Formats: sequence, C-alpha cells, structure tokens
Amino acid sequence: MENKLTIYNTLSRKKEVFEPLNPPFVGLYVCGPTVYGDAHLGHARPAITFDLLFRYLQHLGYKVRYVRNITDVGHLVNDADDGEDKIARKAKLEQLEPMEIVQLYTNRYHKNMEQLNTIPPSIEPHASGHIIEQQELIKRILQNGFAYESEGNIYFDVERYNQKYHYGKLSGRKIDELFANTRQLDGQQEKRNPLDFALWKKASPEHIMRWPSPWGDGFPGWHLECSCMSQKYLGDVFDIHGGGLDLQFPHHECEIAQSTAAYGHDAVRYWMHNNMVTINGQKMGKSLGNFITLDQLFSGQNDVLEQAYSPMTVRFFILQAHYRSPLDFSNEALKAAQKGYERLMAAVKQLDKLHATTENTVDIDTLKNNCYEALNDDLNTPILISHLFEGVRLINSISAGNEKINAENLEKLKTLFHDCVFDILGLQGEEDSSASNQALGKVIDAMMNVRKAARANKDWATSDRIRDELKNAGIQIKDTKEGYEWSLEN
Ligand code: ZN
Repeated sequence: MENKLTIYNTLSRKKEVFEPLNPPFVGLYVCGPTVYGDAHLGHARPAITFDLLFRYLQHLGYKVRYVRNITDVGHLVNDADDGEDKIARKAKLEQLEPMEIVQLYTNRYHKNMEQLNTIPPSIEPHASGHIIEQQELIKRILQNGFAYESEGNIYFDVERYNQKYHYGKLSGRKIDELFANTRQLDGQQEKRNPLDFALWKKASPEHIMRWPSPWGDGFPGWHLECSCMSQKYLGDVFDIHGGGLDLQFPHHECEIAQSTAAYGHDAVRYWMHNNMVTINGQKMGKSLGNFITLDQLFSGQNDVLEQAYSPMTVRFFILQAHYRSPLDFSNEALKAAQKGYERLMAAVKQLDKLHATTENTVDIDTLKNNCYEALNDDLNTPILISHLFEGVRLINSISAGNEKINAENLEKLKTLFHDCVFDILGLQGEEDSSASNQALGKVIDAMMNVRKAARANKDWATSDRIRDELKNAGIQIKDTKEGYEWSLEN
C-alpha cells in the first residue's frame, strides 16, 4: 500500500504530496500558547490537530522534531504594537512576578494537554529564553536594510520589504488595500508606516519585563520569537509550520517577512492552519460571556455547559471535524460526540473478545485502505472515523455470529483499530483508567460474587434483588460465556 500523505499548504493554496527535505527527518514547528490564563477550547484544537499530525508522521516512520513554543514575553494586550504585555498585566493584577505567571499557566497548560492525551513536543522553547538570538536576528534584518530604529524601537519596514519580496503572500492580502485600510494610531508616530511592526520595543519606565540591548532597555516584538526559535532548532529551511487560522495574519505573514529579510529566502516549506472553534455559532470571547476553559469543560462548571465532558469526548469531538473546517461547539454536538466515542471504545473492547473461525466472510484490506486513504488525504479524520464505524458494525456482526472472520483477518482488524484509534487518533479508554471506575468495578465484582453464591443456593430472591439494585444504580449487567460485563447506562 502506498503511503503518500498529502497536506493542504496554505502558501500554495492547494494540496501537495508531503516530501520532507531530509527524510526520514521532519521538522515541525507549531505556535504555542501565550501563558497568561487558563487554556480554553480554542487551545485544544491546534494542540490536537498537530498532535494528530505528529502521531501520523511518526506512524509513517518519520523521525519528527516537534517544536512548540511558549510565548512569555512581547505579546501585547491588543495583539498589535502598543498596550501592555499580556503576562505583565496579569502579573500586576495577581501581584506576582511575571515568571510566576508564566510557570503557573505553563503547568496548567501541560496538565490540560496531558488530559487530552497530546504527546509533549520534542522541544518547548520560551521566548524569554531566546532574547540574545532575537537580538541577533534583528541585527541581521537591520543590516539588510529592512528595519529602522526609531526612539529606541526597531520597526520592520514593510514597504521596503515589499519592493523586493512579497508581503501578503501567505494570507493573500494586498498591500495597497492594507495600506488603505490602516490608519495612523495614537502612540505610533515613531513608525514610518502603520503597517510596520515592532521587532524590538523600548520599555517604558514602568514596564517590568525588560532586557538590555544595543538600542536600550526593551523587549522583543511578538512575531520575532517564532522566526527565531523555529530556525534555531529546525534549520534555515524546515518542513512544516502550523498554527491556528487566527495567526495566519499578521503573525505568520510577519514571520515569513522576518526570515526572508534576514536570510533572503523563506524558512517554511508547508504552512498548515487549523480552523477556529465557535460556540453556538459565535466567536468565543470573554466579552461575549461564552468563554469556556478546558477545566470548566471537564468539570461541567460553566453556565454554557449542560454537563461535564471528558477529555476524550472533547478530543473525539475535535477529530470528528476536518481540521480546516470550522467547528461549532454546542451541548448537542458534544453529547453526540460522547456517544460516538463510547460506541467506538465499546467496539474496541468487543474486538479483543472475538474468536477467529476457519470460515471468513469479511474484507479487512479494503477497510484498511479506506482508512489510510482518508488519513493521507490531508488528515481527513471525519472520513477516517466513518470508516472506523464501518469496522464497528463489522465487529458487532461478527460478535453476533452474522459474519465470520479468520485468524489472519482478525489480526489485521485488531492492528488496524489499535493503530488508528490509539496511536494515530490518540484516543484512550477513560473508564479503565480512572481510579473511581476501578473502585466501582471492584464493588460490582463483590456484589456479583454475592449473587453467584445466592444462585448456587437457589436463593433467587436475593439474586434478583442484586440485579435490580444495580439496575436502579444505573449499572447494566450482561451475562456472557466468561461471566459478566458491566456498563454504565447513559
Ligand atoms: Zn508563532
């Protein structure tokens, strides 16, 4: 079977066969969080999308260096070149050291990412740990004539750059329209042009996050860290750069401009962007009152939520949509995802109990081809999942005796499900892993032992009572050849 992964390259605006620069090595850079608050639903989507890519590339045999940064300086409140630093503002509010804020929210982010079963990146560099490298990059851009100093700030000269290269090639925005649509903002008089963006900002006396530089005390502009750290760890040219669609402009456009201005060429071969999450059709935002953190989602403690949703339900929900499609959160959609996830995991358990026969009536090769075709088609997880559900129907019919499977095909089916469900989609069983469910299992075992003893004594009243009490508690018992199985009613 041919494993040719095609991915949609935002830069060329078409699907391209993925050919790494130096196979089997693949360099993958993804823009990480700005750590000044709890991770929310919007953080889960890029994390899971690029975890899927990371997992699948490794499954195909590539050796992937996955770099995801932590933004801990330079990301200003209004996402432009003025206003307070997001970290510094939070530090003032909480009366903490900025690096305490960074550590606190980095730890919480890591906890949420682990709950979502995302594999940690190979390198997780912090912007604040790369100030010298960022200054060196600024010097290069200055030397090449694509930046200028103004009152202790260094700005990127967009107009000058656009005379030689193409500013807007990633987002498809036209520079003339951008010029026409921007107006001179207050406090930006030091810029030659409103489109120019900061590479280095002068720190005002009250600004707490500051470093010495040839241009005076200050801090790096937000876009600079990604150009700098991606190339430091992945090389002048590397394979894939990912991030949310909201970062395509200006953040990634500026990254391309910075790297090109410094080195004369692009750094990135394939740009990938995941689409955004909306909530009941609306953009998520603190001001809109529909802001859901991952902790709230997992505990159910937010007025928007009708119940708690487990990390695997959230992961399955995100994977059920193609990463380039918009994804709308609603309680209905999440509940449907929960049912789907449970049905899939129940089938995986059932699969382990299937017995091979000499007779065979099923075709696993076609199913497998369909699954990989979906994955290779720009990570088309909704199609992959629909094929897996064909597999679920197959498992159920084999289990019911309506279809027969031989040993070779049973092994293929088990491998296919194991690879797709666990290794690639990154789902895991939740029931088995949680301590409370393990304790519940022991209690049910104890009650079932009493029931067994009662039945041995022909004490049918006690036996029936135990079954009824369990049923009232929402626990379904199914007698099987090996003994019994239990499940929680929904
Ligand atoms: Zn970035």
